Amino acid sequence: MDFRDSPEDATFRAEVREFLRAELPPDLRAEDDAVLGVGVGENPRDRDWLLTLAKRGWVAPAWPKEYGGAGLSVMQQFVFNEEIARASAPRPNFLAIGLAGPTIIVHGTEEQKREHLAGILSGETFWCQGFSEPGSGSDLASLQTRAVRDGDDFIINGQKIWTSGAHRAQRMMLLARTDTEAPKHKGISYFLLDMKSPGVSVRPLTNMADTPSFNEVFFDNVRVPKKDLLGELNRGWYVATTTLDFERSGIINAVSLQMLVRQIAAYAQAHRRADGAWPSVRYEVVDRAVETEVAIIFSYRVVTMQAKGQIPNQEASITKLFASELAQRIARTGIKVAGLHGQLGAGSPHAPLGGRFEAWYRIAVGATIAGGTSEIQRSVIAQRGLGLPRG
Ligand SMILES: Cc1cc2nc3c(=O)[nH]c(=O)nc-3n(C[C@H](O)[C@H](O)[C@H](O)COP(=O)(O)OP(=O)(O)OC[C@H]3O[C@@H](n4cnc5c(N)ncnc54)[C@H](O)[C@@H]3O)c2cc1C
Repeated sequence: MDFRDSPEDATFRAEVREFLRAELPPDLRAEDDAVLGVGVGENPRDRDWLLTLAKRGWVAPAWPKEYGGAGLSVMQQFVFNEEIARASAPRPNFLAIGLAGPTIIVHGTEEQKREHLAGILSGETFWCQGFSEPGSGSDLASLQTRAVRDGDDFIINGQKIWTSGAHRAQRMMLLARTDTEAPKHKGISYFLLDMKSPGVSVRPLTNMADTPSFNEVFFDNVRVPKKDLLGELNRGWYVATTTLDFERSGIINAVSLQMLVRQIAAYAQAHRRADGAWPSVRYEVVDRAVETEVAIIFSYRVVTMQAKGQIPNQEASITKLFASELAQRIARTGIKVAGLHGQLGAGSPHAPLGGRFEAWYRIAVGATIAGGTSEIQRSVIAQRGLGLPRG
């Protein structure tokens, strides 16, 4: 691939940079929100940024113009995301804009588009993604939450877990089983659930980072009207894969990680020992820097395929996995560079970088263990009394 921008993309990049330079106030920079995709777009101050983006027509870069999006090409979305990450700009209402909206645009009826898209663009409606269940994570198609037809409604019973943002969402993208006889991918339907429906209860899960960002959600005879079925009955699996068609290079993660390594390197330079000898740390920081370049190149591979009309599959998964594991290595390197003080949190006057080393470690390592759990990890967390559901 050609790593240089085409003349049109270069012009667009300059336009985005200038916009960010002029419009993004320093106190809106979401350096820590962007760290690892945790809590992204959940900060109340993000709403101001959303209004600024709205004035420029850039709230939903991937959406077609007729639905209020920016209608950017895949490559322009990539450039836009890269610059957003470099500027540490927040990504308000990310789940709604990045997942719910595009899926409704592709599969929704006119009535569903009218009902949902405007609220997403204005930042009034928050969405969560109700896919994972206690027994269905990697093997998502085995999900057991049931939706049974009852006249013009469906009755939902079951449970979801790890549902990010469910505690503040008004709507959920819900996958539920509507046919128990069909092969497992073919008996699932996709619903646009109103979280205020009677019978929905949300229980926060606090992770090891002490962040209440995800939840358990329980459904007890929840009645969902037929109008909230998205796409065809029993075709929910295929509706859910729609978002694969949108830009998913992971460039925001890759660039955000690069920014972290630069901060660690700057800290190491400023605090190096008087004799200048700190070789093991120096090599470790260099390793992390090289690895962030690799993550960025993985992202370029994915977007290049998309720009050629190919659908990245394992390439996108590799990119995501590599970045997630790299985030943990970077957090560990950060703690090593900061030394014992690196373990102090934001409340301590002695915490380096205002406690950010400690926060990155908790988010990268803690949240990942508590969220992407195997049974063994779960039992370790339970034994140590860490990250258990409260209440
Ligand atoms: C921060 C965070 C936010 C999340 N937010 C949401 C959300 O909003 N909505 C939502 O629906 N879900 C969410 N999830 C859940 C996430 O999608 C699941 O964690 C993921 O699908 C993995 O499922 P699991 O945790 O049950 O792990 P498991 O499926 O139990 O996997 C545990 C381990 O076993 C491995 N493994 C599994 N199957 C196999 C196999 N057949 N062969 C070899 N190895 C295997 C996996 O690679 C993994 O290492 C979130 C997770 C995290 C960490």
